[in-house]
Amino acid sequence: MTGPFTVAGLAAALRARRISSVELAEESLARIAAAQPVLNAFVTVDREGALEAARAADAALARGDAPPLAGVPIAHKDVLMTAGLRTTCASRMLADYVAPYDAHVVARLRAAGTTLVGKTNMDEFAMGSSNENSRFGAVANPWNRACIPGGSSGGSAAAVAARLVPAATGTDTGGSVRQPAAMCGITGIKPTYGLCSRYGLVAFASSFDTPGVLAGDAQDCALVLDAMAGHDARDATSADRPHEDCTRFLRREAGARPLAGLRIGLPREYSGTGVAAGVATAVEAALTELRKLGAETVAIELPMVGHAIPVYYVLAPAEASSNLSRFDGVRYGHRAEGYSGLDDLYGRTRAEGFGPEVKRRILIGTYVLSHGYYDAYYLKAQQVRRLIADDFARAFERCDVIAGPTTPTTAFALGARTDDPVAMYLGDIFTVAANLTGLPAISMPCGFDADGLPVGLQLQGRHFDEARLLDAAHRFQQASDWHLRVPPGYAR
Ligand code: GLN
Repeated sequence: MTGPFTVAGLAAALRARRISSVELAEESLARIAAAQPVLNAFVTVDREGALEAARAADAALARGDAPPLAGVPIAHKDVLMTAGLRTTCASRMLADYVAPYDAHVVARLRAAGTTLVGKTNMDEFAMGSSNENSRFGAVANPWNRACIPGGSSGGSAAAVAARLVPAATGTDTGGSVRQPAAMCGITGIKPTYGLCSRYGLVAFASSFDTPGVLAGDAQDCALVLDAMAGHDARDATSADRPHEDCTRFLRREAGARPLAGLRIGLPREYSGTGVAAGVATAVEAALTELRKLGAETVAIELPMVGHAIPVYYVLAPAEASSNLSRFDGVRYGHRAEGYSGLDDLYGRTRAEGFGPEVKRRILIGTYVLSHGYYDAYYLKAQQVRRLIADDFARAFERCDVIAGPTTPTTAFALGARTDDPVAMYLGDIFTVAANLTGLPAISMPCGFDADGLPVGLQLQGRHFDEARLLDAAHRFQQASDWHLRVPPGYAR
């Protein structure tokens, strides 16, 4: 190869004509084919489409008018619509669904010149934390095949960790970019709600759903995020604000103490019980490194954050139960055969089309929205959601970013929590608050536990402050090499 398999490195190699886009697409496709029987990271591989896009990128590179990411291979989570290429949401319901249009972020990444090689495996409708809820089977963690890769963007995380693609999109409703990034030893950013359009993202919980990026390091995340972000009138919650250059930190002069002036908040509520020893140790060491780089740490409090899990698991299913009512066997997707009337068609179609976790969410959501329970559950959860947001607003008067572990444990064994949904939900304890509040957050690799499994450090920031998060992560990565580690057996 021609140097590191990173977005920045490959974009440079392509521009210098050390490699062609077609050669690079072939390389990525070959890596995917070799890994697929082991990792199951992809639902669909688009060889023809990838080679066609790569030929177009090569032509643009030859003409000298190539867009910034021309020829860089990318994969999209299979919850983002791709015109002409099936979008399954890893569900039987949409197993044959071919979208007639691109999601906004997909279109933007095509316009930026990326070569789409395929769609990545995920938890069905993005509901899950282990990628075991997929119609197409679980994904394996490249660091240990007996372990989960995290979810719900587990296919994207495994594909990037194994260097099948240098970057992939994910979506983060309660942690689905950051949690698998942490468990696979890569970098993942969930931007501020509204920075990237939800148009063409199959809705799970609309007030939480956020397209994000999984890549090897912060620099690559910034390059891809910059291409993805932007206002889109077709998403009513898309932020209409001047374009933020997420890569500007790359040009910032930085001395020996590049993080001088950065105040890192350490919530009292994040320390203590429930965090595995190997995670706590690696996060402590990362904080020491950040202090060496000039950052100062301050103790903060988030008194209401302990309610984040129950609030999330009331509100997200409520929104899901509404959003998923569109899958009724009438307009698109799976349709049951042999029904006796409209109600029977709905019932059979949904019974056959959805897997158990999706059904559980629909039942919970319908329950908390029902007359008589709405005030007690849905309304109350909305009120607590506001109180949690107030906690963060107060905390950000005293600090610029908030640090802690991304996940309480490293990747657990496949099957370990499939019979215990509550244990599964509790694993989202550090990630869901950023979705309840719409705040941006990044996970970066910061070490390994005694079993050799990666640990993620999470930084949460103020609204639209992703450039600061990326800057901090980049400085940390310049001073460390966790992000350079590749699972044994995979090429760098
Ligand atoms: N694990 C969380 C859930 O199951 C978050 C999923 C997500 O972010 N899409 O809902």
